[in-house]
Amino acid sequence: LKTNTETDGPTADRPQLVADVAELRTVIGNVRATGQRIGLVPTMGALHEGHLSLVRTSRSDCDYTVVTVFVNPTQFGPHEDFKRYPRTLDADLAALAEYGVDLVFAPTSDAMYPQGSSTFIETPQVAKTLEGQCRPGHFRGVATVVLKLFNLVQAHISYFGQKDYQQCLVIRRMVDDLNVPIAIRMCPIVREADGLAMSSRNRYLNDQERQQAVAIPRSLQLAEQLVAAGERDTRTIVDAMQRTLDSAGITRVDYVAIAGAESLEALSRLDRESVALIAAYVGKTRLIDNHLLSNF
Ligand code: AMP
Repeated sequence: LKTNTETDGPTADRPQLVADVAELRTVIGNVRATGQRIGLVPTMGALHEGHLSLVRTSRSDCDYTVVTVFVNPTQFGPHEDFKRYPRTLDADLAALAEYGVDLVFAPTSDAMYPQGSSTFIETPQVAKTLEGQCRPGHFRGVATVVLKLFNLVQAHISYFGQKDYQQCLVIRRMVDDLNVPIAIRMCPIVREADGLAMSSRNRYLNDQERQQAVAIPRSLQLAEQLVAAGERDTRTIVDAMQRTLDSAGITRVDYVAIAGAESLEALSRLDRESVALIAAYVGKTRLIDNHLLSNF
């Protein structure tokens, strides 16, 4: 008798890679016909532990896991980083093989938008503030591509990270409003050892910027501490968070906000479940992060 280690080496199989919409429909049709529960993890690739945590959750909830890798042009503004966004499909496939992903859908822009893009989702109210204000059209592009992926993959559950908190709320609301037959799961933020939220964009940071960036999670921790100490005035908390960023040299801040956790309405006093959110530039790199404040 030979053991696996003697004969086969690593046992991980690469996931099936599909780039074609018609082929995806055929494969998904077959999977659905067997009654398997399908989990979907939409990503833009350049995968890290944050993405992989979503994959792990899907693998434990579902019978068949689909990861999509698509840098969606319609969610980037004209001066944003669409062109230089990291594309690392080979490394992504190797990482996903370790996790037993069944299928990776990695279409080209032409495959996703063969006739260009002319039909868009009109986004809900929760998309209008914060990221929606700083990145006009962003959520319109996100909601549209996510609905397309839902229609293509026909998953039972789709997994999103709290890292993009407002995005989760936008998708949940879209799914509710349009009766899309899918459950949305929001998974916790995965952080580096020093607290920085993992992000594909962290690789843009040089050493000095990487150190500065830690002020973002520190600022969120400070909010948590102030709330734990009894502070309820959001202006006071936001000012303290701003100072933390400022003293680390992070001066280009899109927003530091405390908002209602369900609909992101501005709050002057902390009298309900809320969330602290930051979007700021470290050097030329725009980073976002957030933390739920529920300690009252
Ligand atoms: P992206 O590739 O940036 O579009 O992200 C794909 C999915 O991974 C989104 O649902 C993100 O919210 C999620 N994600 C990204 N970074 C993290 C992280 N650090 N922790 C948890 N989820 C994340």
